[in-house]
Amino acid sequence: MLIETINAWSELCPERIAHRHRDRMLNYAYLKTSSDALATWLYDQAELKEILRGRPIVVYGHKETEMLTCFIGCVKAGFPYIPVDSSTPAERVRQIIEASGAWLVLTMQRVPEGMVQAGIVVVDAVDALAMNQAGTLCLAGGDHLRLTSLPLPEWQVQDDEVYYIIYTSGSTGVPKGVQLTLRALESFLNWVNSAYLPEERNEVFLNQAPFSFDLSVMDLYMSLSTGGTLWSVDKDEISNPKELFASFAKSQTSVWVSTPSFAEVCLLDRSFNETLLPNVKHFLFCGEILTHDCASKLTQRFPRASVENLYGPTEATVAVTTLTITPDILSAFNPLPVGRVKPDAQVLICDTDQLSAQIASGKGILPHRPEELSEGKVGELIIAGPNVSVGYLNNPEQTSKAFFSWQERGQTWKAYRTGDAGLFKEGLLFYQGRLDFQIKLHGYRIELGEIEETLRRIPLVDNVVVLPIERRGKIEYLQAFITVGNPVEDEYNTVLALREDLRKHLPEYMIPRRFKFLDKMPMTPNGKADRRALLGGSE
Ligand code: AMP
Repeated sequence: MLIETINAWSELCPERIAHRHRDRMLNYAYLKTSSDALATWLYDQAELKEILRGRPIVVYGHKETEMLTCFIGCVKAGFPYIPVDSSTPAERVRQIIEASGAWLVLTMQRVPEGMVQAGIVVVDAVDALAMNQAGTLCLAGGDHLRLTSLPLPEWQVQDDEVYYIIYTSGSTGVPKGVQLTLRALESFLNWVNSAYLPEERNEVFLNQAPFSFDLSVMDLYMSLSTGGTLWSVDKDEISNPKELFASFAKSQTSVWVSTPSFAEVCLLDRSFNETLLPNVKHFLFCGEILTHDCASKLTQRFPRASVENLYGPTEATVAVTTLTITPDILSAFNPLPVGRVKPDAQVLICDTDQLSAQIASGKGILPHRPEELSEGKVGELIIAGPNVSVGYLNNPEQTSKAFFSWQERGQTWKAYRTGDAGLFKEGLLFYQGRLDFQIKLHGYRIELGEIEETLRRIPLVDNVVVLPIERRGKIEYLQAFITVGNPVEDEYNTVLALREDLRKHLPEYMIPRRFKFLDKMPMTPNGKADRRALLGGSE
């Protein structure tokens, strides 16, 4: 239904702007014709090259309007897409292409040299989509294809087929590709659209997150499915407050979607209030803790808007719980709850060790619902329902660790172990931190293990632990504690070299701000690096 719904907007309001990025705009009519053209071309190419249906396509760029055409074009031809932001280091992009088995890269920007290994076709989508009035698709190579037919409905990604794949940080040192089906996406959209936009249409959605983060799935598809306008701010605007606020003022944003961190930075400026953004109806937050302070400032500065705290991981399609942060909630709770569970999903609080044992003995399939802890007890948060991912792409080992299923009243429940700690109280879910070494820094999901593994591959490094350094209860930066084979003589230049090496593999937000060289790693009695002792010695 999703594709049909998006197509329908091109008939109902062809001129309406579907996406705006700076001065570039894409209307619903053009989104349809350009994605149809791309889908037809993709389908023909796949037939020619004997590419199997369902093999992914990488869409590489940032906030260009062509990104949307590429996403929709891919799924119209039966191929899931992998959005990769152009800020991703070349080596990581190469890793994603290789690990995913992508057969094509559609780019909006120059692909870094050496990024793509032999055999992968790169198409410059901006050129490719420079379609003229006569319905000709110009490809990067200069070929002009006349569009003779429209994509057929049966080509499209079907309910239980993978629609998109998002790569997240992986603790073993390699990013994991989370696969989400059309059914999962529709289950999420039906819920959020009926909760926040029961009648409204033609809203303007703020798009802050890059398309490679699952938060953007919320603004992108809430907007496209309801005939809205997606208003993207790019990374240069975000790093220039004057430009950013000018963009806000122009945008007429009515549905704000961002991480709480982004809103916190905006709130530092007193002019971030109703006068700047008079149309905002909803603030939709997800991805990290929404602090009491942030929520109360927003309710004061935007008294006519609702503030919503949504919770969920990429593996369960953006979010599974939500709560409107009313004055009553603000006076009753600090920290704030993350709310109530969407109707077609379940959230269970389980004992981690007991659950691990049950999953291991049942080889991932439980004969019954796992045992839950009683209300008020903290345990691992398990999410089950149609919104749960079908697993990590080409990664059975990590998939079997994180996903399992059980039978209940003749129905199979697909479940995901979040690694989050949580509890239920008065019917509300409370997030209680992590049970492992995954963290959120300024809204970015990071596995500390991935940074450690990347550092360990550098010959100089013997052993390493990376820790988040907190100030006033909030993670401020990362610090790496490193033991080396030979004493470091020139610390300054050694750190520069380590940083340079890391930058080849990791995005900027994963590079530790501080490095400390140790003679010896402090150890706990059971032989693990003593993180507590390290924190005591952090600077
Ligand atoms: P991501 O896959 O990037 O969306 O990250 C998912 C993780 O972000 C979850 O497992 C939580 O640890 C955290 N998270 C998401 N939403 C919230 C929220 N509302 N409050 C606290 N933590 C959150």
